[in-house]
Amino acid sequence: MKIKRITNQNRRDFTAVYECEHCGHAESSYGYDDANYHRNVIPAMKCGKCGKTADDEYRPLTTKYDEHEVV
Ligand SMILES: [Zn+2]
Repeated sequence: MKIKRITNQNRRDFTAVYECEHCGHAESSYGYDDANYHRNVIPAMKCGKCGKTADDEYRPLTTKYDEHEVV
């Protein structure tokens, strides 16, 4: 899955619409805006429809806040 758009963000917690690269299925879910989440957690999410994870084309988003920034 990848983030299609972030719909709401409160500090590092966000809600977003995730979209499957394979079948285009979109689902709304929660997330945590740090580098690990973008690099490792999101691409490992399985699509609720086709069950696939992100492919090699996945490019993580950058975080809104820096890793060491206190928010
Ligand atoms: Zn899918």
